Amino acid sequence: MSTQPSMQDIQKINNQKGGESDSFNKFSKGLRGLGLLAAWLEDLFFPKFCLGCQKEGAYLCGDCRHLLDISEFNYCLCDRPAKLLTTQENRLPGKCSKCQDKKLSGLYFALSYKDNSLTQKLIYQFKYQPYLKDLAKTLASILIEHFVLAKNNTDEIWENSVLIPVPIHIKKLRERGYNQSEELAKELSKVLNVPVVSNVLVKTKSTKPQMELKKEEREKNLENAFEINPVRNGISNGVKNLFLNKKVFLVDDVYTTGSTMNECTLILRNSGAKSVWGIAVAREE
Ligand SMILES: [Zn+2]
Ligand SMILES: [Zn+2]
Repeated sequence: MSTQPSMQDIQKINNQKGGESDSFNKFSKGLRGLGLLAAWLEDLFFPKFCLGCQKEGAYLCGDCRHLLDISEFNYCLCDRPAKLLTTQENRLPGKCSKCQDKKLSGLYFALSYKDNSLTQKLIYQFKYQPYLKDLAKTLASILIEHFVLAKNNTDEIWENSVLIPVPIHIKKLRERGYNQSEELAKELSKVLNVPVVSNVLVKTKSTKPQMELKKEEREKNLENAFEINPVRNGISNGVKNLFLNKKVFLVDDVYTTGSTMNECTLILRNSGAKSVWGIAVAREE
């Protein structure tokens, strides 16, 4: 018998974690109709404006989305000038010779993160006031477009895998009200049909923002910042580990030097993950 958790097992455990009962589910279904009404009222009283051109209607209008250079290629995960890595048969992201020792197996990213770009604006507003949580849908759809363009949306890539959001510290969570990476993972999960494992990989140390630090300080900043919560990692159905022997896709908004993902990868690999891959909306250039 396989000891690996199925999609259903993970969803069951996720539901238990939230403490949602059947009656709560019925109640929330009833609320869905009200939710639609609320969304309509919200649009009426709090209209959305495009972050690119201020046009009313959405946070990213069709014209501005069109201007984004969504990558149709796979690149190495190093921060050197992007090295195109495509082999004849498969176009899976790989690593250049300099990156062979890095723990992360590869990185998927859709956009380049440059100063004063629309990409920077979108990601900034997703994380800072006025906290546009809805941007998760837009940014996830950009990632999906990348997967399709780069021919990465295949069963082979997503089989036997889980999405794990890069965690944030509880202090940050209270401040923002949500973990932006978790929101992204949830949106990706709906399309990719890969379960999300949240609150298992946790951040126990409050750290300085990586982007404010020099390269040499970044690794030190993250030392012992993450851990696996053993109680949440499998509590029923004989499932001991929600990502045992699975391919883990770590989800984050921006990939900078890779220190965050590297630190998370070490912990996940030591705890039984088969391999760990990164998914980021954008990579800093
Ligand atoms: Zn626009
Ligand atoms: Zn490289």
